[in-house]
Amino acid sequence: MCQTDFSGYPDCREDTIKALQVATNLGMDSNFRFETPLMWVDKAQTYELAEQLGGPWFVNLINTHTHTCYMGVRNQTHAWGAGCGKCPACELRQKGWEKYNSLKQKPEQITRKNGLETILNLFRKRR
Ligand SMILES: [Zn+2]
Repeated sequence: MCQTDFSGYPDCREDTIKALQVATNLGMDSNFRFETPLMWVDKAQTYELAEQLGGPWFVNLINTHTHTCYMGVRNQTHAWGAGCGKCPACELRQKGWEKYNSLKQKPEQITRKNGLETILNLFRKRR
């Protein structure tokens, strides 16, 4: 559950989860607590958290073993996982993936392939 960059479905909002928790506890005469640790982080921050918790292996696991596409498309794969690439869930996931990768660009990740472009960009920024 994530309200920060949800696609408009009201069931993703914190108020909905709190209401469900109250209804469940009233209906079952219990004291369950619904935890939603990703409610106020965006998709890029979720990827960052995954990296902190389990490293690149965990980020890869998320992209290869989780699915959010509203159309249920699993046979089209992208760097961020499987999906149609067009529905709101896919768009959010793709944007989160791209933001996560842009934020984690570090000098040690410069490869021979992208090195010249990176150096030129640094030079342009200083002008
Ligand atoms: Zn989709």
